[in-house]
Order: sequence, then structure tokens, then C-alpha cells
Amino acid sequence: MSLSEIRSRIATACDAAGRDTADVTLIAVSKVQPLERVQAVLDEGQRVFGENRVQEAASKWPGFRESYDGIELHLIGPLQSNKVRQAMELAQAIHSVDRPKLATAIARIADETGNCPELFIQVNTGEEPQKAGILPAEADGFIAECRALSLPVKGLMCIPPVEEEASLHFALLAKIAARNGLPGLSMGMSGDFEKAISFGATHVRVGSAIFGQREGYTG
Ligand SMILES: *Cc1c(COP(=O)(O)O)cnc(C)c1O
Repeated sequence: MSLSEIRSRIATACDAAGRDTADVTLIAVSKVQPLERVQAVLDEGQRVFGENRVQEAASKWPGFRESYDGIELHLIGPLQSNKVRQAMELAQAIHSVDRPKLATAIARIADETGNCPELFIQVNTGEEPQKAGILPAEADGFIAECRALSLPVKGLMCIPPVEEEASLHFALLAKIAARNGLPGLSMGMSGDFEKAISFGATHVRVGSAIFGQREGYTG
């Protein structure tokens, strides 16, 4: 599917929900995609991209930044504490803040450098043991903790369990964000971004629908 088709589907979903298209940011998730495909999407005018590994982002994006202006990189995958500094240098947003230790590490580096990406707190709405994210019951406390550290928390992020109806998870995330006064909702992927928009998504993370299937990739 082309980038313009995805954009028009986002516009249709916004219309149906009575929302302004300008309030939904499309993050093109370029992880594991061949550089030619990423470059083609850059050439079509897309500037907001998502990667889920710091190492991979570091190998790819500084090069593209030499040729294209205005690139905005969002880190959407699990973040190890020892990669925080590099992540903060590379990315304009981090969507996977999910534990106090990580929040503290980000705050320390932000104090030192005077620079901090926009942050989204990942909530494990399905309470899946193998999945990253703060548990829903602990979200309010963790959000308060991040705010006490003066972190720029923009919103919340979730990845619903594959075998469950995503709507329940989108609604739960929206509810937690609303009661905490957070404007950002990072939710919705290739299979469900329109539904996510109907529940208030401000950032949709779309990979395979734009770039094609990721070959041999299981993460
Ligand atoms: C890979 C990934 C996506 C994109 O998934 P698609 O189904 O290819 O659109 C979105 N969010 C996260 C966190 C991802 O890791």
C-alpha cells in the first residue's frame, strides 16, 4: 500500500470521528526495512519515522539526516538503561518509558544536557508477562513520578495483545490519559490504526502497511 493511501485512510478515519487530521501524526515504522524502501518513503515527503532498536536507528538515520531535512525519529521499542544516552541523542520522542529506573536515567541525562525528547509512557494494558509497559494499576503513580522528575511526558503508548479486541485496550489507554491530563495517545498499527483514531489516537505507528512485510522478522 502506498503512503498516500495510508494518508487518505487516516483522513477518512479522522472525518468519521469528527477529528482534525492535523491532530494525528503518522509514524512510519521503518525497522528492518531495506534502505531503498525507506528512502522511497522519504522521497514521497514523509519525515516522521519509528524505530524499535537504538542500534539500528543509529546505523540508519544519521546518514539519512545528511540528505533530508526535518526528519523526526520516534523510538518505539523497549529501551535498556545503558542505551538511554544514545537514544536521547538520536530520537525526538521515546514511546517506551515503562519503569522508574529508566525515568530516573532519562531525567539525569536531561539535567546534564539540557535536552530531552518528548516522552510517552508505555502501559501494558493486556497485563502480558512478556510485554514491556507499566501495569494499568500502577500507571497513575508512575506518571506522577515522571512529572516529579520534570520529565516532558506527552502521553501514553500501548501495544494490545494480538489475540484480543484492540478497542478495549485503546479505550483503557484513553481513559488513563484523560484522568491524568495527558494529551498524547500513541496507539494503532497497520491492522488497526483507523480504530485507534476513533478512540483518540494522536500518534499511529504504521510499518508493514506502508513498507510491506518485514522479511524473517519476529520482534
Ligand atoms: C513494529 C511496530 C509497529 C508497526 O507494526 P506494523 O504492524 O508493521 O504496522 C508499531 N509499534 C511498535 C511498537 C512496533 O514494534
